[in-house]
Amino acid sequence: MNMGKEMKYEYREVKCPWCDHVFMWNKNGGEGLIIHMYRLKETGKYVEEAKCPKCEMKMLVLDKIFEGIDIDDDRIEHILTESVIL
Ligand SMILES: [Zn+2]
Repeated sequence: MNMGKEMKYEYREVKCPWCDHVFMWNKNGGEGLIIHMYRLKETGKYVEEAKCPKCEMKMLVLDKIFEGIDIDDDRIEHILTESVIL
């Protein structure tokens, strides 16, 4: 392993729930600032949003769970953008 200590990016595999495509998702990617807009009702933890490079559908990525889930999943609470403190 020669990855270097400066892990600015964290990649993991995510499976698209819509088309079953498996892709490498960059946890800290996107347009710089991550704005959390979704939260797991059960734990209150924020969840990250990902976009499938194949079908371009959005999904949410849960910690340690391979397959992404629907943004409108019952377990997810939507947070208004206005209430997000930057
Ligand atoms: Zn897909």
